[in-house]
Amino acid sequence: MRIKNVAAAAAAITLTLAMAACSGGGAGTTAETSSGTKAVPAGDITVGVAMPTKSSERWIADGNNVKTQLEALGYKVDLQYAEDDIPTQVNQIDTMITKGEKLLIIASIDGTALTSQLEQAKSNGIPVIAYDRLIRNSPNVDYYTTFDNFKVGVQQATSLLTGLKVLDADGKDTGLTGPLNIELFAGSPDDNNATFFFKGAMSILQPYIDKGVLVVKSGQTDFDKVATLRWDPATAQSRMENLLTSTYADGSKVAGVLSPYDGLSIGILGALKGVGYGTANQPYPIVTGQDAEAASVKSIIADEQYSTIYKDTRELAKVTVAMTDAILKGKTPETNDTTTYDNGVKVVPSYLLESQIVTKDNYKKILIDGGYYTAADLA
Ligand code: BGC
Repeated sequence: MRIKNVAAAAAAITLTLAMAACSGGGAGTTAETSSGTKAVPAGDITVGVAMPTKSSERWIADGNNVKTQLEALGYKVDLQYAEDDIPTQVNQIDTMITKGEKLLIIASIDGTALTSQLEQAKSNGIPVIAYDRLIRNSPNVDYYTTFDNFKVGVQQATSLLTGLKVLDADGKDTGLTGPLNIELFAGSPDDNNATFFFKGAMSILQPYIDKGVLVVKSGQTDFDKVATLRWDPATAQSRMENLLTSTYADGSKVAGVLSPYDGLSIGILGALKGVGYGTANQPYPIVTGQDAEAASVKSIIADEQYSTIYKDTRELAKVTVAMTDAILKGKTPETNDTTTYDNGVKVVPSYLLESQIVTKDNYKKILIDGGYYTAADLA
C-alpha cells in the first residue's frame, strides 16, 4: 500500500506545501504516478466524514469546516452525524465503505467499537484518519489529527487554580493554603481523550490535593467514579446535584469544579443554581470547560462559568484536509508526533495542535479578534 511506512518518512512535506500543491495544480489524484496512469479528478472522489453528534456545536463546526475545505479542493463529501449512537455510527461507516468512498475521516463515539469496520476499510484499500478522537484496538488507523490532549487537561486545571487564586495571572503560586473544596468531572470513558484530559488535569491538581490546599470533599477522585458517559450534560448535572445534597448537605461550599467540556459545565452550573449559587452573596464556584462553545462563552461573560479551552476547529479541519489530500495523491502527509498516541495495537502518527485558555479577560482578543465568533454571536 502506498500509505504504508509513511510515518517513517522523516522528510514529510509541510502543511503549507501540501496546501500550496493543491491550490496551484487543482485537485486531482494520480493512481500510479510512475507508471503514467492518468489523473483522477478529485471531483470523482468521495471522502466519508463520520462525526459523533450534532448536540454539541463544536462537532457541527468540525463537520462544516472539513466539508467546506474538502469541497474547495474539488472532493465530494459524505458527511454523517450519529447522534451519539454507536450502532448508527457503525452503520454509517459500513455504508461509506460499501459505497466505495476513498478515505474515511472518523470522529468516533466509542473509540473501541470500530475494529471490524476498519478491517473492512483496510481490505478495501481505504485509508482512515481518526479525527480528534483516537480509534483504539485497531492496526488500521493510518493517521490521527487532534490537539495536545494532555495539555488541554493541564490548561483546565491551571485555569481552575488561577480562578481559585491559588495561582496568580503569571502562573505563580500565591501561597494560598486553603483548604478549598473542589469536585472533579471527567469525560466519556470510551473516548480516549477523556483520560488524557483527566491525567493532564490531575498532574497539576494532585500536588495541591496532597498538600491539603485543595480537598475533593466527596472523595471521588478515580477516573471511573468521575467519568461522564457520552459526555452527557444531564448526567453531569445529576451527579453534581447528588454531590450537593450529600457531600455538601452540611452547608459547606464548593469552591471549584473541574469540568472537561462546556456542555457538562452548563449542567454543573444548573445544579449549583438549583441550590442557590449564582447570587451576589453566594457566587458560583470556579467552573472550567472546553470547546469555547458560544453558550459557555456567554456564560463566562456573565460571570457564571470561569474558563473554557479554545480549540480552533478550523485549524483541525485544515490539517485533516491537507492530510487527506496528501494521502489521496499518494504523498506523505505531515505529522508532528509519532510517540504519544498508542491505540493499544500501534502508535498512530499524529498531527497535534495547540489549545488556549479562555476567560472573561481574553475572550475578545482570542475569539472575536481571531475571527472564531463575531461580537453578535456572543451577545
Ligand atoms: C473532544 C472535546 C469535546 C468532547 C465532548 C472530546 O473528544 O476532544 O473537544 O469537548 O469530546 O464532545
